[in-house]
Amino acid sequence: MARLYDSRKRVLITGGAGFLGSHLVDRLLALGHEILCVDNLFTGTKRNIDHLRAHPRFEFIRHDVTFPLYVEVDEIYNLACPASPIHYQYDPVQTTKTSVHGAINMLGLAKRTRAKIFQASTSEVYGDPSVHPQPEDYWGNVNPIGLRSCYDESKRCAEALFFDYHRQYGLNIKVARIFNTYGPRMHPNDGRVVSTFIVQALRDEPITVFGDGSQTRSFCYVDDLIEGFLRLMETEDGVTGPINLGNPGEFTILELAEKVIEMTNSRSKIVHRPLPADDPRQRRPDISRAHSILGWEPTVPLSKGLDPTIRHFRELLGESAALSATGG
Ligand code: NAD
Ligand code: UDP
Ligand code: UDP
Repeated sequence: MARLYDSRKRVLITGGAGFLGSHLVDRLLALGHEILCVDNLFTGTKRNIDHLRAHPRFEFIRHDVTFPLYVEVDEIYNLACPASPIHYQYDPVQTTKTSVHGAINMLGLAKRTRAKIFQASTSEVYGDPSVHPQPEDYWGNVNPIGLRSCYDESKRCAEALFFDYHRQYGLNIKVARIFNTYGPRMHPNDGRVVSTFIVQALRDEPITVFGDGSQTRSFCYVDDLIEGFLRLMETEDGVTGPINLGNPGEFTILELAEKVIEMTNSRSKIVHRPLPADDPRQRRPDISRAHSILGWEPTVPLSKGLDPTIRHFRELLGESAALSATGG
């Protein structure tokens, strides 16, 4: 979609060195904006933004969003938060602090500067859903005290904070509920299913399917998702969301494993491992709201989006093999 801006905006992206954040940085820079990327590099990496080091409209600040931040900006995208189960369960207390204190600080910043503010919420607010597919008015089925609760409940609390700052202080908020997204720059060791299966397949190692693999997920390619972010941010004041962003194509985890093996020509075999606690049985977004309000729907099917993702991991593994061969 062609976009013409009459004015350059100063955009703050928290979590900007992460998977989604770095793609968003690229898109917004290409549109002519000034980007302030804030990240504590917990799961993000400088490699994701290395190509922007000399860019005149790009600035990086290493900062933890659980601490206050005083900068002057027009728009805020709040993405800072570890997103994969092994990363968010590594230090669950810090995960909750990041989501909740991070949201409070960014909302405080938005309140002072009157900046428009976007929240990267998640399909995890629906928990292990008893309604399928999940529409935004479904309140969810979340375990408040389990291993996933630090992520699910803190993201729910962040949503509550966004809506209270909106009602109480008139903040212009945009809340997106993101469903499983994949693409280049995913962390190779974050345990998320797409990156894990691809890395295992490229190494001809066993593909670890948790449980019997009949649980489902819907996978959205990163470029489609970022287009949804921009469209939501561009909506008129008063459009707050929450809006589901994801690809309604639904696959069992076993189907994903088979697809990855086929597309990588791998010799890997599927092995089964225990299903983690509270692992949602099924997940698929109802995107009718995104369709009617944003005119948005995904354009990249799984079989197409896996190609560039596999290429990314091939390059990454090639580089690390070359490094270890030279003792680097
Ligand atoms: P990611 O781990 O690649 O990115 C998160 C970024 O936040 C990293 O760069 C990390 O270093 C940074 N970060 C973490 N804690 C921080 C802190 N205290 N202060 C500053 N920076 C901090 O994950 P991602 O997939 O890019 O996810 C981005 C956002 O989107 C997250 O908020 C996540 O909850 C949300 N989301 C992602 C998905 C998905 O499928 N990728 C799905 C639902 C929601
Ligand atoms: N805050 C921030 N940057 C700003 C303004 C506020 O980080 O530019 C933080 C501040 O530390 C505060 C939080 O945001 O703890 C919430 O701000 P708010 O104004 O809502 O609350 P108050 O300052 O009244 O506690
Ligand atoms: N999964 C799997 N093998 C893995 C990693 C994940 O079978 O090596 C499964 C996991 O149990 C879940 C699905 O894949 O049912 C998606 O997991 P992921 O961690 O990517 O995302 P989330 O559970 O947060 O949707």
